[in-house]
Amino acid sequence: MRQIALFERGIDPTPIVEMSGDYGQNRYFIKREDMIPFSFGGNKARKAAEFYKEIKACGADVVMTYGSHSSNHCRIIANMTRAMGLDCHIISPEENREMLYNTKLVEDFGAVVETCPVTQVSETIDRRVEAYKQAGRNPYFILGGGHGNPGTHACANTYREIAVYEERFGIHFDYIFHASGTGATQAGLVSGKLLVEARRGENDQPVKEQKIIGISIARNEERGREVVRQSIEDYLGEQYESLYREEELIFTDAYCMGGYGKYTQDVRKTIEEVMNKDGIPMDSTYVGKAFYGMKCYVEEHQIVGRNILFLHTGGTPLFFDLMDKMGSR
Ligand SMILES: *Cc1c(COP(=O)(O)O)cnc(C)c1O
Repeated sequence: MRQIALFERGIDPTPIVEMSGDYGQNRYFIKREDMIPFSFGGNKARKAAEFYKEIKACGADVVMTYGSHSSNHCRIIANMTRAMGLDCHIISPEENREMLYNTKLVEDFGAVVETCPVTQVSETIDRRVEAYKQAGRNPYFILGGGHGNPGTHACANTYREIAVYEERFGIHFDYIFHASGTGATQAGLVSGKLLVEARRGENDQPVKEQKIIGISIARNEERGREVVRQSIEDYLGEQYESLYREEELIFTDAYCMGGYGKYTQDVRKTIEEVMNKDGIPMDSTYVGKAFYGMKCYVEEHQIVGRNILFLHTGGTPLFFDLMDKMGSR
């Protein structure tokens, strides 16, 4: 089967495995979104697969997106676009100058990277889209981080995979933890849960309590929650009123550590521990930070004897940036 078939027919369910390290008095499982087999995987690859269908459907010849050129999102979009034989144009805030492995990859994929001050992003995008249209091109624009209904839908599928796993192996996850950034992942997981539970209710199947906890990697609680809630409303449409409940949305900024990209020595130690005991690489901006945040949350809330699922959302190239920063020992 050809690689591109991954996008045509949808991706296979990612593995869920029990972890062997001792991370607290619970059973810990991990869902490996980082193992989606395209461009180092991750939730951005899952979202990209949804955008692929839309790009094909509208016959676009240039794919545009917004984001830091060192982001996982821009890497995947630039890679996928190259594989499709289309042009890629990235609008990037000039405040971000970090040269990471993702930046190099984006360059290698031949994407055009246009930088502008963060205050001029929307005008720059509008101007550039217009210019392509004037030149007879057909641009397709993807919001930063793969935000929007296709991205939310992709992550609702992640939840469906979790529900199928629970049914198949007769296990119930009391908690699902994950790194929350632009909010599409959390919006998808929560929407997926509400839809699956509604279906179970209709079929008179029991619905057990389960908490999805988004660990913010940058945003404060107020803004973070509102963006996730809005995405859930956009995605569920008419079903929003009947399905959505405030208490389903748990978003904590208690482990932000001062904002995007910031982390502590404890995060670094946790990343080493997980790599040593489970052989799973984690980056310090998203996954390692959230995994450490989960450990703190579990301790603070005295959670014991439960089944906990952690969603590994990807970011593998950033793991190597972290190794570079740590230097050789
Ligand atoms: C983007 C990203 C996230 C956050 O996902 P959102 O859908 O933006 O909330 C988490 N982990 C990794 C590795 C990411 O690249």
